[in-house]
Amino acid sequence: MTEPVLIVGAGPVGLTMALELARYRVPVRLVDQMTERAYTSRAVALWPRTLELLERAGDGVSAELVSRGNKVTVANIIAGAEPIARIELKDVVTPYPFALMLPQSGTEGVLGRHLAERGVRPELGVRLVDFTQDEEGITATLRHPGGSEETARFGWMVACDGAHSVVRHRLGLAFEGDTRGDDWGQGDFHMTGVPFPVNELATYWHEEGPLVLFPMAPGRYRLIAGLGSSTGAPPAAPSFEAFQAILDRRGPGGIVLQDAVWTSAFRINERQVERYRSDRVFLAGDAAHVHSPAGGQGMNTGMQDAINLAWKLALVIRGLSTAPALLDSYDPERRAVGAGVIAASGRLTRMATIQNTLARRIRNALMQFVLGLAPVQHALEGSLTETSTRYDDSPLNGVSWEAGPRAGSRMPPIEGEAPYGAGDTPRFTLRAGAWAGEPPGPLGDLVDPVIRANPVDGGIELVRPDGYLAISVADGEWEPILGYLNHFRPAGTGPA
Ligand SMILES: Cc1cc2nc3c(=O)[nH]c(=O)nc-3n(C[C@H](O)[C@H](O)[C@H](O)COP(=O)(O)OP(=O)(O)OC[C@H]3O[C@@H](n4cnc5c(N)ncnc54)[C@H](O)[C@@H]3O)c2cc1C
Repeated sequence: MTEPVLIVGAGPVGLTMALELARYRVPVRLVDQMTERAYTSRAVALWPRTLELLERAGDGVSAELVSRGNKVTVANIIAGAEPIARIELKDVVTPYPFALMLPQSGTEGVLGRHLAERGVRPELGVRLVDFTQDEEGITATLRHPGGSEETARFGWMVACDGAHSVVRHRLGLAFEGDTRGDDWGQGDFHMTGVPFPVNELATYWHEEGPLVLFPMAPGRYRLIAGLGSSTGAPPAAPSFEAFQAILDRRGPGGIVLQDAVWTSAFRINERQVERYRSDRVFLAGDAAHVHSPAGGQGMNTGMQDAINLAWKLALVIRGLSTAPALLDSYDPERRAVGAGVIAASGRLTRMATIQNTLARRIRNALMQFVLGLAPVQHALEGSLTETSTRYDDSPLNGVSWEAGPRAGSRMPPIEGEAPYGAGDTPRFTLRAGAWAGEPPGPLGDLVDPVIRANPVDGGIELVRPDGYLAISVADGEWEPILGYLNHFRPAGTGPA
């Protein structure tokens, strides 16, 4: 029997990893040292690309998330009384054209329930204390509640154990980057007097620091505020009265806090692990990258790490592929995305925290102009929603037909069609134009047997199980497609 995959950490990334592997019929154990789940909301936004990718599981997880969250379609930036920008999520081609505001605890609850339906329950109170790896697998020491220790054998391990990852430390992997020198306060509050409808979020740029209001539900908001330079002591959450004073000084006036659901303080780390893979161990989520919460990308990027890895691991574990390139591609693909998120969220943070008066005036004038330009809005929408995420330099990319999208591009889901990668086995999907002709031979197990029409561009496109373009060729040129697929088959097996 196949040894299970050990997933360390049942945060949003570990839960996503477990959900994807379980639906691909890969046995998993999911352990977490916490004895009960956190009630604090932490990450607040689910972006369209994450919802598109979760929908592939076919069990209604995205629909349930959407039913529990608040859809935000507009982001406002205001400096004093001056509107700087109004960014509308209107041009993104996706079934989910909004930012879904849902407390992280809500996201975890939905993922956990869908996982339980697949027969997997996180083992809470179980801590990974040590591990070794050899050519065949992982030997892990797990400490159970009460202190007893278990030594167990696994085929692979995925470290979703957060920013202080024990696995990363044990592997001696550098977590390079910096800690910013300012403190931040945040909390979820009930409040009245916000002058925006519940589908609009607001960022106020102010000389003391930014103030951001994310609408979670009518009357309930996540508030994040810059608190200025750190004193060196651990950051402390402002009092209720101090949060109200920040709102009064930096906001539009008239917003009144009713009560606090929870508050906390944090300092921004911008760090990325040097390698996302060490032989049979993979790192995903905060274990691999941490950055500014500006743009709300942290949790989404981590969940998409898990989705990127799961189909590759499933193909290998189920013996459907032995190509080393498959698992080797996880690090370059996701490290490039993580580096991009760290850079973009850092830029947003620096822009919002400019203190010099002249520099702020220049910023405001420049941003009023630049953010009013349609191409800039379009680019910003793509990066925030993560629908412009692509794997341009992936070692998995085949050739690109000049008339169509480039290999590595996101292939948006098409209304009325099953999502790419749906089902209990990871499969590529073929799209073929009207003049594509017939494939010269059987395509084999790695491809969905139904070839879909490609009415838009023509040509033949092979789409990966995670909805990115693998290779595209002109109509009739089937040989490169067959060659690409053969590359992934276990040695000695032809198309079935
Ligand atoms: C107060 C706060 C506010 C935040 N706000 C935002 C926000 O607004 N937007 C945003 O995008 N992100 C935000 N984040 C970050 C976001 O919560 C993380 O990006 C997200 O939780 C990462 O998920 P993860 O699964 O990688 O790690 P985590 O959620 O950190 O989960 C890691 C899990 O691993 C477990 N674990 C650790 N070590 C072991 C071990 N040795 N054995 C077993 N289990 C172990 C831990 O108990 C934990 O449950 C916030 C975080 C905090 C703390």
